[in-house]
Amino acid sequence: MGGILLDVDLRHLYLLDILVLTRSEVHVNLWCMKLQSIRGMNDIAPPESHIWGKIEDAARAVCRAAGYGEIRTPILEPTELFKRGVGEATDIVEKEMYTFDDRNGDSLTLRPEGTAGVVRAVNQHGWAIQQSILKLFYLGPMYRHERPQKGRYRQFYQFGIELLGVQDPLADAEVISVGWDLLKKIGIHDVELRISTLGTDSCRKPYFKKLTALLKENMDLVPEDFKSRIEKNPQRIFDHKDEKAQALAKKLPLLLDELDEESSQHFKRVQEHLHSMEIPFVVDANIVRGLDYYCHTAFEFTTNSLGKTQNALGGGGRYDGLVEMLGGRPTPGVGFAMGLDRLALVLQEASSFGGVRPDLVIVSSGKESVSVSLKVARELRGRGISVEVDLEGRSMKAQLKRANKLNAQYVLLIGEDECASGMAILKNMETRSEDSIPLEKLTAQLLEKFVESFHQE
Ligand code: ATP
Ligand code: MG
Repeated sequence: MGGILLDVDLRHLYLLDILVLTRSEVHVNLWCMKLQSIRGMNDIAPPESHIWGKIEDAARAVCRAAGYGEIRTPILEPTELFKRGVGEATDIVEKEMYTFDDRNGDSLTLRPEGTAGVVRAVNQHGWAIQQSILKLFYLGPMYRHERPQKGRYRQFYQFGIELLGVQDPLADAEVISVGWDLLKKIGIHDVELRISTLGTDSCRKPYFKKLTALLKENMDLVPEDFKSRIEKNPQRIFDHKDEKAQALAKKLPLLLDELDEESSQHFKRVQEHLHSMEIPFVVDANIVRGLDYYCHTAFEFTTNSLGKTQNALGGGGRYDGLVEMLGGRPTPGVGFAMGLDRLALVLQEASSFGGVRPDLVIVSSGKESVSVSLKVARELRGRGISVEVDLEGRSMKAQLKRANKLNAQYVLLIGEDECASGMAILKNMETRSEDSIPLEKLTAQLLEKFVESFHQE
């Protein structure tokens, strides 16, 4: 039996459990085996999660500064929302969604992206009617059944913003600037902003017709999985990852060369605003969306540090028809979504975050010393200073060793000698300098010290 157990794929554990229920010996063995997470769904723990925390803090700070408020929508939504909001002729809806019937027989889907849910909520609560401009951001997990690889997972996290109610190209530029500012704030320097335009219906529709006809003429060059798209979504051939598709795309005419006056004016204004904000960009015709309600600006933030197929850190654009498509009254919108897993990977590889180190480690010994150290630690923690204390009654030598390992900025020694003399010793672990601090003034003097050193950083 043991031999058979070794071959068991753990993801089938529950099924096997049922199959072998009658064989109690095997049943017990199976229950003892370690369970695994679902393929493509990761555990994010320290030290990696510190990087995630920093990215999320930065995202919140950038949003606060630009006036975007957080929205949290459910992870489960009616399947219909994504069919309409993402579009039936997309990879996401055709083959990547986690869809199931719940106990009532309703078809539900784990959200594959954030915009559809936000727009659903805006319509449901009538927010776009109450306020002329809505600025919202979200942060959270998304689910797509893709082939897991570096930077591509089945549960991944997105940070995104949506600006609803403004038609002016200034809104497109502001949205782009929020994404750009976040990338700079967290220290991603190897990033390129690529922008394009999808124009308006009046130039896109005839262009799509022409594209569909050309693709039909070259059917032998069209990748198999794209053949069903050439009517509804022909422009997506430009961002198809297949080499054959990319070669074909190079020979096709560009919408950028066939823009009407309104479209080229809008695109020109966005570029002017980006210049004013000193945000560098390149115009790249391969940035497409290709659904009816996307129009004008489309953009992507890309990096060279993650390989060719996972090089997009984020993408977005204008979607003036979406609110209406989801049952609301016509409302222009523009937004982007950024992949947090990819941001974390880039930062991890560049080691831009040195990890977290405690501000202070208190080394204590003896009953009195422990009670002082607990009190001081709580007071300092209450003021936002990170403090580690010994919880295991270890020797001072072992505690000092741990302080070194944790790379603490300061170490406070309160041994029995220090308690007797009424003076603790504060060691700066970088400069190796030492100060004596009277026990009764510990919190006040340490706070002063930390304010000073925070100012110097
Ligand atoms: P890609 O071309 O890489 O598949 P996409 O066009 O499907 O990206 P969007 O739907 O625009 O991506 O999502 C915005 C961002 O979310 C992407 O730029 C990427 O950083 C991230 N992202 C998308 N899918 C995944 C995934 N499966 N795993 C990790 N991050 C993802
Ligand atoms: Mg994708």
